[in-house]
Amino acid sequence: MSEPVRQSPCFRFAPSPNGYLHLGHALSALENAKRAQDTGGRLLLRIEDIDPARCTPEFEAAIFEDLHWLGLRWEEPVRRQSEHVDTYRAALGRLEKMGLVYPAFLSRSQIKAHAAQAEQQGRTWPRDPDGALHYPTVERVLDPGEAAARIANGERHALRLDMDKALACVDAPLFWQESGTGEVQEIRADPAAWGDIILWRWDAPSSYHLSVVVDDALQGIAEVVRGRDLYHATSVQRLLQALLGLDPPRYRHHRLVAGGDGRKLSKSEGAAGLRHLRQAGHSPADIRRLVGCVA
Ligand code: GLU
Repeated sequence: MSEPVRQSPCFRFAPSPNGYLHLGHALSALENAKRAQDTGGRLLLRIEDIDPARCTPEFEAAIFEDLHWLGLRWEEPVRRQSEHVDTYRAALGRLEKMGLVYPAFLSRSQIKAHAAQAEQQGRTWPRDPDGALHYPTVERVLDPGEAAARIANGERHALRLDMDKALACVDAPLFWQESGTGEVQEIRADPAAWGDIILWRWDAPSSYHLSVVVDDALQGIAEVVRGRDLYHATSVQRLLQALLGLDPPRYRHHRLVAGGDGRKLSKSEGAAGLRHLRQAGHSPADIRRLVGCVA
């Protein structure tokens, strides 16, 4: 009998071109490259640019430049999410066919007012792990005729996942394999903590969660290596994988690089920005040392 062909595991670094890369991104990119090197795997770069209001070609060009300067190389072609909206639309269509998607008309300020009113009456309004208010579930039950008329009228809306119905469709509880601490652990996903997540936005095609699970599966990613800030997002991504029948990758959420004041870095963080550090005379080896990734 012949040996089964062993495929090289795929890793991806998936930045959004909505700002300049900082030390946190450098750590993520280097960790992915190291895992690919250690396992004889492949390194992919994915540009997550589905948000047209925030992503720019200049930031994308800067990503390539900064990563090249760091000494990283990846396989071509680079996947650019804005070029694959139809693929995400097809995944959304599957969820719609399952009756799990509804149009959500409340704006952010209306959700806030709704929550404030409930809290005045002594109820605690749920927030997702990122601190955003849950969408009011009473809004799920809009009359379909009324919803269709409002959409036909051009009213702004997002498409959301009905979390209760979605959970009823899968073999809960769901788990993911996490090796962030070294040892592989089975982590129990808690998608309900996110409430009715957005699947499609009025001002941008698709959503981060939907496009990321579709792409991770399509690109055959073996292990998602990314910052600890996305640890909780895995719960909802695991649910979408189960609903869409996609094989889940393993996950390795790495520590975050803190700013000078100990807070999480943001894209506007000048001092920790790779370009800033480069212009200040730091070398790629300095960056590796600064983030503690010396491979
Ligand atoms: N595009 C996301 C970001 O820049 C990362 C997505 C991921 O690694 O899953 O924060």
